[in-house]
Amino acid sequence: MSTRELALGTGPGASKFILDDATLRIERPADKQWPNIETPLRNVLWAGIDNDVLTVSLLARKKARSPLSLIHVTGPVADTDKEAASSFSGTVMAVAYIGVAPERRLKVFVNPHSGPGKAAKNYRKKIEPIFKAARCKVDLSFTERRYHARDLVKELPLDDFDAVVVMSGDGLIHEVLNGYAAHAEPGRAFRIPLSPIPTGSGNGLALNLMGMEASSTLCKRRTFSLLGKPMDVDMFSMKQGESRYISFMSQAVGLMADIDLGTEPLRWMGGQRFVLGFIYNGEYHKACPVKLSIKAVHKDKQKMLGDMHSAKAKSEAAHKTAQPCSPQDTTETGLPDIVHIGPDADKDGWITFDQPVLYVYAGKGPYVSADFVQFPVSLPNDGLIDVVVQERTTRGAMLKGIDGAEKGHPFWLDTQHYYKAKAYRIEPASNKGHLSIDGEAYPLEPYEVEVHQGLGCFLSMYGSYQINFEAPAKK
Ligand code: ADP
Ligand code: MG
Repeated sequence: MSTRELALGTGPGASKFILDDATLRIERPADKQWPNIETPLRNVLWAGIDNDVLTVSLLARKKARSPLSLIHVTGPVADTDKEAASSFSGTVMAVAYIGVAPERRLKVFVNPHSGPGKAAKNYRKKIEPIFKAARCKVDLSFTERRYHARDLVKELPLDDFDAVVVMSGDGLIHEVLNGYAAHAEPGRAFRIPLSPIPTGSGNGLALNLMGMEASSTLCKRRTFSLLGKPMDVDMFSMKQGESRYISFMSQAVGLMADIDLGTEPLRWMGGQRFVLGFIYNGEYHKACPVKLSIKAVHKDKQKMLGDMHSAKAKSEAAHKTAQPCSPQDTTETGLPDIVHIGPDADKDGWITFDQPVLYVYAGKGPYVSADFVQFPVSLPNDGLIDVVVQERTTRGAMLKGIDGAEKGHPFWLDTQHYYKAKAYRIEPASNKGHLSIDGEAYPLEPYEVEVHQGLGCFLSMYGSYQINFEAPAKK
């Protein structure tokens, strides 16, 4: 695109707007003390004319090193400038929201108790003004209790929303997805994309979608709710007894579940408690007596790495032209059938692992916490679950093993068995211990998990998980 300019006013009160491929620059009136503004187009929230006044709302840095802040630039539009100003603001909106409908209709859940307990204040202070500036239609609920979000989502009017925004940790995402499953039309409900604004103590989903941007300023994180496009993701059915739950991220038994759920007093540490727990508990941890059965597709680590890189390149290219999805797009209104697990399941291709293990961790999405990448070759929509089985080993091997855990290096350990699977089953020998499903506590009883390819969708800026994972350099 060539550069476009709009000049408003004359003399010292004049301002100039300059738009090119990637940025919007605003040269401010000479009689105002403010500096000029320049910001990437993804930070433009709104441009339009109401009652003869042009408003441009954007996120920009007031000084080179200051964080992004919300800035509104307004100026009266004279009759003679009207046509030019309206055409200019139309172009700004079209390029800022390329491929995405502006004025999103959002159902927003804020959990005031998530993480360090600042979500409500941060929503009002940092997120709400941005959604307002972007003219989003927001329907807001502060969660008042456990299962509140799930109960509201069960009744969600599906045609009224373009996305559900969850300001909390992974636990509230788990609730919302189980609300979708309990909806009268679950298949259509799952077509409403979720977008996390991470404020929990475990924010695996946000890390997977945003990479390290998930830990940058809140202002930046909002971009995903406004400009992200739907990325199809597999969901899991977890069956325990007669109950069926939806899991989107992980299931853990053994050491990792004990660290995740048994170290509540260490929550303030965030992700580091995984690594510390590993160091201090690893050697002394009793073997985790479970029988593990897997409907495995393969366990070739090199192939997983190659498949991950080629699928990632393909899905990132496709994401650029992806269309917004909506409940209308699907003919599937019910929950998908379970076909691989249960008493009548086909036993072909099932393998059994019954050596003593340190932990079993299965899931989707590379990060389970900011400093622990357990599933580095995971793909959002391959119809497979990554099942990791860590053998018991010596303290020395363990310490070596967690070296580079934040980059996924333990993947290459010989004692870490890594399967791509369609389903698996766990039968614990006793019910003493923890079972963590998406970071939430469940009773340690036999359970089975099966993948539903592309059942759900999350808003993503990229169309892939945000991790760079390569084979280790040869020593
Ligand atoms: P965190 O990572 O801080 O634990 P999560 O989103 O993972 O945040 O978990 C939040 C948990 O809090 C969920 O189990 C959810 O059901 C529960 N919850 C939501 N709202 C409230 C509330 N108002 N009071 C207490 N618990 C709540
Ligand atoms: Mg949590």
